[in-house]
Amino acid sequence: MYFDPRYLIFLGPALLLAFYAQMKVKSAYAKYTQVANQRRLTGLDAARIILGPEGLNDVSIEGLPGQLTDHYDPRTKKLRLSAGVANQPSVASLAIVAHEIGHALQDSHNYAPLKLRGAIVPAVQVSGWVAPILFLIGYLLGATSLAWLGVILFALGAVFALVTLPVEFNASHRGLRLLQTYQLADGAELRGAKAVLDAAALTYVAALAQTLATLLYYVTLLTGSRRRS
Ligand SMILES: [Zn+2]
Repeated sequence: MYFDPRYLIFLGPALLLAFYAQMKVKSAYAKYTQVANQRRLTGLDAARIILGPEGLNDVSIEGLPGQLTDHYDPRTKKLRLSAGVANQPSVASLAIVAHEIGHALQDSHNYAPLKLRGAIVPAVQVSGWVAPILFLIGYLLGATSLAWLGVILFALGAVFALVTLPVEFNASHRGLRLLQTYQLADGAELRGAKAVLDAAALTYVAALAQTLATLLYYVTLLTGSRRRS
């Protein structure tokens, strides 16, 4: 099997960052899922308090298996909550629900980065697995234009990862503001909620770093092979 050790040199730092971010998410969630919020509100309670006054009456709430699987689906206007978040009156539950409602607000306010991200999702899903195949075939057969086509398609994934950053940071910003506005969390609770959301945001930064590192590796391979020939 063909493996290039240079790939690890390019990707190593990004992989370390991803590993660190995952650890931070797990530890922040584990910590703040044990800290009960003062008003003893579950994620479901918080969602019910926030949605109506924010004009999000068309958003429905649905349960979801797994841990940290919570998300808002703009296509179906569904707020999908994991059991841990929906049923536990913790600081972590408040943080995660508020963040997801932040996405629902972005959707209802036609927040441009969210719309852009949604628009390129289908293309990214295809390019995500087609691009590396095209690149590898093109590179190994010396068909440079085919390999470059792979690079261009792969770059779409980088655009997606880049657009994801404002979407996620803005959702957390909106979420923390919601927790304040509806007096769901006080100072220490807000700091805890921010710690959970900041850790989650770091995973998206790591995802962008991985995509850019891979893209740079592809470009380096191609420009290097051209110089040799
Ligand atoms: Zn999010």
